[in-house]
Amino acid sequence: MQKFIMILKPKIFSVFSEIKAGMSTRLGGVSREPYGMNCSFRVGDAETDVAENRKTFFANLDIPPGRIASPRQEHTDIVKCVDAPGEFTHCDALITGVPNLFLSIMVADCLPVLLYDPQKKISAAVHAGWRGVASGIVQKTLRCMNEEWHSLPSAIHAFVGPSAGECCYEIGQETANHFKESVLKERNRRLYLNLREGVRLQLLDEGIRPVNIEMRLECTICNTMFHSYRRDGNRSGRMIAVIGRTN
Ligand SMILES: [Zn+2]
Repeated sequence: MQKFIMILKPKIFSVFSEIKAGMSTRLGGVSREPYGMNCSFRVGDAETDVAENRKTFFANLDIPPGRIASPRQEHTDIVKCVDAPGEFTHCDALITGVPNLFLSIMVADCLPVLLYDPQKKISAAVHAGWRGVASGIVQKTLRCMNEEWHSLPSAIHAFVGPSAGECCYEIGQETANHFKESVLKERNRRLYLNLREGVRLQLLDEGIRPVNIEMRLECTICNTMFHSYRRDGNRSGRMIAVIGRTN
């Protein structure tokens, strides 16, 4: 019997029967608090617990754990095209056209962006923190899909998962300098960043159709259903987001 864990399943991909995609939350899992359902081996959590959590997550989505490709995530704007499982250094976004290869990223406040082009059957997973968004990692991924596979933005479907919301995501002036005023808000002389709106505008600018974008509006900082680095610091777990297609 499978343990209870809460997994978000993107509705935007539900019409494509070949797609397997999901994102874990903080709920469920076997790790001790505050890790809960942590899926990262790099945050000080017990390795056996993380392995168990990941096993449950992949089993729930019916994804073979040996078929995962993931970027090392270094807050770069570098996109890599991959055709085999494994960890890929010095990048924060992966693209593949290979069936039964699943792309995964880890987040706690940063934006997970999953993309799929059902015409060319190309998937992508993007880890987008403020640095990545400011340097255009989402656009770079879309352009790479277009250059390598002739993916048309009008065909691409996007899932933007829960992330730090503008209710809580306070930033300094230096970070704010990287963003347009339309995604910044000032309250009580403090600055807040609406990072997901920044990503939504970038997706639209690149030609993604509004109806093909699913945005999750939960804030990971104030909603304890999610892991948050801003809230829990070094003891914060990570959520995993994954996408890939079957034959
Ligand atoms: Zn919040």
